[in-house]
Amino acid sequence: MRKSKNKKTKTCRHEWVVFSTALQDVCLLVECVKCGLFGTVDDPTEEEWSEAFDAAENPYLWTDQSRVTVRGVPAIRHVVKNPDISDSENTLG
Ligand SMILES: [Zn+2]
Repeated sequence: MRKSKNKKTKTCRHEWVVFSTALQDVCLLVECVKCGLFGTVDDPTEEEWSEAFDAAENPYLWTDQSRVTVRGVPAIRHVVKNPDISDSENTLG
């Protein structure tokens, strides 16, 4: 657990959370709860797609990082930091 001065988005071990779907593109919208990076999952299965309809109300963790396409940092954070999956930045360093 050493500290780095690199940009957070580069060193972050992203924890993607599905927070919505993009109907026109048929992709899942994900956001890293640690650094706020925004991404998409472009080829969801039918099961994943229907599961994600609930994501706006119940965001859930997306573990398959290899399928996330990073799109950049959104202007606003969609996902409220979840204490269950957040890191411990609130401690004095
Ligand atoms: Zn991240």
